[in-house]
Amino acid sequence: MKVPLLDLKPHLAPLRKEILEAVTRVVDSTCYILGDEVEGLEAEIARYCGTMSGIGVSSGTDALLVSLMALGIGQGDQVLTTPYTFFATMGSILRVGARPVFADIDPQDYNIDPVAMEEILEQDRRQGRKIRAIMVVHLFGQCARMDRIMELARTYDLPVIEDAAQAIGAEFPEVENGRTTWYRAGSMGICGCFSFFPSKNLGGIGDGGMVVTGDPGFEELLRCLRNHGAKPKYHHRLTGGNFRLDPIQAAVLRVKLPRLETWHSRRRENRERYNRLFADAGLLDDPVVTPQAVYEQADGADSHNYHIFNQYVIRVPRRDELRAYLQDAGIGCEVYYPVCLHRQPCLPAGRYRDLSCPVAEKAARETLALPIYPELSEAQQAYVVEKIQTFYASR
Ligand SMILES: *Cc1c(COP(=O)(O)O)cnc(C)c1O
Repeated sequence: MKVPLLDLKPHLAPLRKEILEAVTRVVDSTCYILGDEVEGLEAEIARYCGTMSGIGVSSGTDALLVSLMALGIGQGDQVLTTPYTFFATMGSILRVGARPVFADIDPQDYNIDPVAMEEILEQDRRQGRKIRAIMVVHLFGQCARMDRIMELARTYDLPVIEDAAQAIGAEFPEVENGRTTWYRAGSMGICGCFSFFPSKNLGGIGDGGMVVTGDPGFEELLRCLRNHGAKPKYHHRLTGGNFRLDPIQAAVLRVKLPRLETWHSRRRENRERYNRLFADAGLLDDPVVTPQAVYEQADGADSHNYHIFNQYVIRVPRRDELRAYLQDAGIGCEVYYPVCLHRQPCLPAGRYRDLSCPVAEKAARETLALPIYPELSEAQQAYVVEKIQTFYASR
């Protein structure tokens, strides 16, 4: 049996006709830069996220970059972020000339740890405040601890950029006076950044991204920077760039957005099934397999926070051996991420030599992502678990 990490063929099949119609509509319109399709998607994504506005951009990476530019972050500034994420989080900080500062992660859920953040922010305050912003990542589809992070942001008076590239539609509960309000990823900070890279839960047929914000002034800055900082045309009050979303991508994404909740539900069902299968196989007791923890609700209600499972990640012993074994058995799996950001070779030699983020470094050695895409069958999941069971039984 073959179980790819992600299979876009069964995903495309039921939508193929509508997607081709959408592409044709753009081609026939001869409107190839911004325009109605981009504006339509911007409004739809903003509504979906519960924010005021969306600004379509060229990728998730550019969403982060243009957000930092709009905050005026540059040379001499520092941005507090996580060492355990995709490179673009740090890459955007480096590209504006700022310096990333890393707070270690939580060992259970892999998101940035508010306790580690507070230590760093307190130290920064004593040393004269170089940190100008917080860039938080909602890793694998689950929101970071936004209640505590937003509290820190208020205490230290810092803007929060949410890297929600893996978490469109994820929700985080805020309990106030006994009432729970659910906020969608991207709607809690000054802005939220999304990616439409094909492997995200809402993926285009190429690159694309979006920034959402509830701040009208910030929206205006983003729109201006996305288009070379021009306003009006050919009068450049800022040095922006070409960060525009392609209308073909927008038109395709508008076909897909109404189905997004169904796909999230299937991913969540697949996660439940994995957890059941691992329990039945006796792999959770020892434990051999430790799935990413989902934050429990403080009020003990039946629900957890709403995790959209862009990735289903387990922690295992002898990870690299297991990975090779699964790949030989036709099972796609991947390590997100094998090298922490503060250990990346593009950084100035020695800058982070004395920094250790032991929790992130351990995660980088022990975690493995398994297939979780919505069209995954029960038989495929059973096969994945059976192979993992065999691997640990035979050695
Ligand atoms: C995918 C991703 C990005 C970058 O998105 P692109 O659209 O590929 O540029 C940024 N941050 C995180 C956490 C991601 O997973």
